[in-house]
Amino acid sequence: MRATSLVKQMLGLRSVTVIEVLVRPHELLIKLRLTRSRLVCPKCSYTTRSCYDTRTLDSRWRHLDIGIHQTWLSCQLRRLRCPTHGVITEAVPFARPVGESRFTRDFEHLVAWACAKMDKTTVTKLLRVAWRTVGTICERVVTPRARSQPS
Ligand SMILES: [Zn+2]
Repeated sequence: MRATSLVKQMLGLRSVTVIEVLVRPHELLIKLRLTRSRLVCPKCSYTTRSCYDTRTLDSRWRHLDIGIHQTWLSCQLRRLRCPTHGVITEAVPFARPVGESRFTRDFEHLVAWACAKMDKTTVTKLLRVAWRTVGTICERVVTPRARSQPS
């Protein structure tokens, strides 16, 4: 098994190819490429093969730590023209739309779960995130569920 395939399986990521893994002191930077050819709007189900352009800077998300290393995912994304939402950065399968969150869904769910089990100060130290970040992550994770409940 190749090292990049091993990293992909360890991270539990689908629909991506691991291009490169950079090991820095206390940090892993994992560069990804999306495997799908169709671009997906992050706000609706619209898909297209037409690419509006490619972003010049890679997007980054904090993922679940591996050992003592903070893990960051990096991916160059394209933009599409959605008939409803206009020109927008394509969706990724592991995180909320670009601009809404700098964390993967797995990381956000871990933060929300940890908040249900322990106090917020412990969560900030255990997961190495800021106090305010814990609050905004919990709002993002919990809010959609609260909206769907009958009043
Ligand atoms: Zn859309």
